[in-house]
Amino acid sequence: MAQIKADEISQILRDQIANYDSKVKVDEVGTIISLGDGIARIHGLDKVMAGELLAFPHGIAGLAMSLEEDQVGAVLLGDYTELSEGNEVKRTGKILNVPVGEAMIGRVVNALGAPIDGKGPIATKDTLPVERLAPGIIDREPVREPMATGIKAIDAMIPIGRGQRELIIGDRQTGKTAVVLDTIINSAKNNLICIYCAIGQKRSSIAQVVQTLTEAGAMGHTIIVAASASEPAPLLYLAPYAATAMGEFFRDSGRHALVIYDDLSKHAMAYREISLLLRRPPGREAYPGDVFYLHSRLLERSAKMSEKNGAGSLTALPVVETQAGDVSAYIPTNVISITDGQIFLETDLFNSGIRPAVNVGLSVSRVGFSAAIKAVKQVGSTLKLDLAQYRELAAFAQFGSDLDPLTQKQLSRGQRLTELLKQPQFQPLTWPQQVVILFAGTQGYLDQFAVTDIRAFEDGLYSYLESAQSALMSDLEKKKQLDDDIKKRLHDALKEYSENFKATLLDKKKS
Ligand code: ATP
Ligand code: MG
Repeated sequence: MAQIKADEISQILRDQIANYDSKVKVDEVGTIISLGDGIARIHGLDKVMAGELLAFPHGIAGLAMSLEEDQVGAVLLGDYTELSEGNEVKRTGKILNVPVGEAMIGRVVNALGAPIDGKGPIATKDTLPVERLAPGIIDREPVREPMATGIKAIDAMIPIGRGQRELIIGDRQTGKTAVVLDTIINSAKNNLICIYCAIGQKRSSIAQVVQTLTEAGAMGHTIIVAASASEPAPLLYLAPYAATAMGEFFRDSGRHALVIYDDLSKHAMAYREISLLLRRPPGREAYPGDVFYLHSRLLERSAKMSEKNGAGSLTALPVVETQAGDVSAYIPTNVISITDGQIFLETDLFNSGIRPAVNVGLSVSRVGFSAAIKAVKQVGSTLKLDLAQYRELAAFAQFGSDLDPLTQKQLSRGQRLTELLKQPQFQPLTWPQQVVILFAGTQGYLDQFAVTDIRAFEDGLYSYLESAQSALMSDLEKKKQLDDDIKKRLHDALKEYSENFKATLLDKKKS
């Protein structure tokens, strides 16, 4: 006994480690033992890795999802009708990769990165795995650059920074997609590459998005990854990871990218479908136990990288659809807790004409304020306060009829600010424009006008600023904050413009 010497043991161990690889045959082959609903059960792939790409006959690919003791459950990517039980399945030793790179910009691709826009093959050699570890803490930096949406209500009160994850949540038809499309259109001038990932939407809706972006001239900086409702669940499951890999290419080369997942509720449903077919035990709302990890590992890949890593960023705007405004359902609460804040869109507001239908009270941005431009922050904080006061008074004022002048003043200010925050689709505003109009609102320049005249006031103001106040606007853009000088000049300009506007209103009444 005990005669084996220590160096012999270490020699044996060393030999085993050295020869370990040669025993794993990469062309290991298994056989399909059952097949159905896009799921194959395979026998004989003992060494397969979780998430490994498998090669089925007829060029069909699959992903190893459940590794069990005597069999492997795999999802099939593509048309599996030609497969049958007993077919051979080969290991590839690889994780699924998708094409990435500059050449992807302007294209519409499927969840595997293959073009579906009929514009021919994509000339890129670079690929990245769809699943990758998120950057660690040391590789990151706090967000510090603004990611402007061009929407007043969001940029001023719920600012988003580059590298942040901000959830857009609301019932169906509340303008969720409208917010992200405006952001994409606004990003053209901000040097931000956008990746729009459509998950489980109707093909007609996706075609509509492509058309809108093309008409707005936004495809020059945009990639669209589409997995429509008619595609098999595994492709819906993969699409956001593929879109993120495409964004990571820009993040890691020191540039700025934005990835939009529209929407993650349908993504979770696709994953639930796969999990149930793989016979994983269902949990709350029949979702599998790892549905939190499904989204957390996805959203963690959005980051602001440190100087040493090129200082690039990947911002994420996940969209989640709620049922009857219930934010406490399983998927909404999960995603709320993974993101750095949420923009809550409300049906009641939308139907009463307040569009974008942002519920200011329930929406937050937990990190974006440190990235916002100082001037925007200055007007935004006053605005938030005024609106909060207004909401409180408005609820209370429904009961009393004779209100004191101060309350009346606050109410009428609130009504005007609410009107001011409405914004038509596809008309993103630059931050100096936002600063001036919100300054006008919070400083009371609108109080003298009827609520119905505010739209005209705003439209006229922008052309007035461009023609008569270009020096002020360029100084504001340079200084990025409201100091005494800028404030004084803003007051002078707004006084002059209000007088002009009043005169035009009178003219209109006369004629
Ligand atoms: P779904 O749940 O179907 O995905 P959604 O929440 O993404 O819907 P959108 O499709 O963005 O909602 O918007 C619904 C409708 O409201 C669209 O017809 C859109 O044009 C209109 N809409 C959205 N935002 C505005 C806005 N700011 N001003 C005017 N109309 C708007
Ligand atoms: Mg939508």
